[in-house]
Amino acid sequence: MQTTHPLSPRQIVTEAVPSDERVWVPQAPNVWFRPLMLNTLNGQWCNLLRVRRAGILSRHRHPAPVHGFVLKGSWRYIEHDWIARAGDYVFEPPGETHTLMVDQDVDEMITFFNISGCMYYVDDQGRNTGYEDVFTKIDMCRAHYTGNGLGADYIDRFVR
Ligand code: FE
Repeated sequence: MQTTHPLSPRQIVTEAVPSDERVWVPQAPNVWFRPLMLNTLNGQWCNLLRVRRAGILSRHRHPAPVHGFVLKGSWRYIEHDWIARAGDYVFEPPGETHTLMVDQDVDEMITFFNISGCMYYVDDQGRNTGYEDVFTKIDMCRAHYTGNGLGADYIDRFVR
């Protein structure tokens, strides 16, 4: 009988906020994500989002729940009157469209997100402008790590 589960080496991600800058995958100018767990079995993923610019990042919704925990800085949704600050937990209910924004006085925000389903991006009129899911995230990571020397298989340690 096997006493060590074959996935056990992948149960911990050390340096979740990495010292190696190459681990951050560019998402947009001055916006990056850092993969932690990419679950292809249920279409869910966990990552850190890092933003070093102010203004609107995206308007989007999700078909499934999202959980967030702010590690650094702050951000908000235009549709809500609260500000998510370091130490705060955020629950995003399925079906809610929201517009992520970082205020001018924030140099950097880092937030952990546990996302299920997809990021369904919409414009001001609610028209779909694109999407991301666990598979597009894996593709982005693999392309980035292939190009920066970490290697095409670096992402595999985060994939289930
Ligand atoms: Fe969201």
